[in-house]
Amino acid sequence: KVKEYGKNHVKIYSQSMNEEAIRRQQLESELHKALKRDEFILHYQPQIDVQTDKIIGLEALVRWDHPFRGLMYPGDFITIAEETGLIVPIGKKVLEMACRQCKTWHDQGFTNLRVAVNLSQIQLRQDDFVDTVDRILRAAGLPPTALELEITESIAMHNTEFVLKQLHNLVALGVQISIDDFGTGFSSLSYLSKFPIHRLKIDRSFITNIANRSESAIITSIVGLAHNLNLSVIVEGVETQLQREVLPKLGCTEMQGYLFSKPVPPEVCIPLLKKSTI
Ligand code: C2E
Ligand code: MG
Ligand code: MG
Ligand code: MG
Repeated sequence: KVKEYGKNHVKIYSQSMNEEAIRRQQLESELHKALKRDEFILHYQPQIDVQTDKIIGLEALVRWDHPFRGLMYPGDFITIAEETGLIVPIGKKVLEMACRQCKTWHDQGFTNLRVAVNLSQIQLRQDDFVDTVDRILRAAGLPPTALELEITESIAMHNTEFVLKQLHNLVALGVQISIDDFGTGFSSLSYLSKFPIHRLKIDRSFITNIANRSESAIITSIVGLAHNLNLSVIVEGVETQLQREVLPKLGCTEMQGYLFSKPVPPEVCIPLLKKSTI
């Protein structure tokens, strides 16, 4: 009996493995179609200077407007897009849409806005990536200084020489670089002095218990580190009024999070931007 159970167990296991493989294959073919059919859209989340209450920038976050599954979030498809290399054409689309949208906002009078775009390290590893960014900026007519590229600490860990060269070439274009989810990825901080970085984005996991003394000590230290390195700092995932009030006392002035706005479609940004003229 035990043996029989064991056999069935193995069978169920391999069957579910098979289902997983089929699901991934289906997702991959749907991603191909999604590219052809332009099913990727961007939502934008405002970044606020809390001393002036003005929107200084917007982060573009990709969504997949799937024909029958509904709106899909990056967590549902970015990993498979990276594994299949489809992140390269998807990421290019994202950059094109974000640059065009930011140019539109500039033309509507919001001239100092910048747009932040998340990068996968696979994109950064492409030989022609800097050229692609340059061409997209020119086609959109967007000043390179209005584009910020968000990379994670793990990017700094791999392929360092080449990545460093790519980053320097991007910065030479005028583009800004920020470190997303700062503090969650990489144990060594030495890359901070080697990489041409403009801004640290403090991960929201650092502010969940902001009243806690050791947590606020960490924030104060990151802010001090950033200031000494001449970097800007923004805190991600600000959700509560308490965080909104405590963070400026710890030196943080730029914030992003549900408290101010969820990521929203571009047309919903207009009233937000009008309320906060730069
Ligand atoms: P991220 O760049 O760190 O973006 C922040 C994520 O936290 C977003 O989730 C955002 O909707 C969410 N968020 C914002 N404010 C709050 C808040 O106050 N509380 C909480 N709990 N969450 C908040 P989203 O849009 O699902 O994106 C998840 C991740 O997917 C992003 O993390 C980014 O790493 C990646 N991603 C998004 N768009 C792209 C893209 O175009 N390309 C690539 N390669 N990755 C992307
Ligand atoms: Mg980000
Ligand atoms: Mg983040
Ligand atoms: Mg992230």
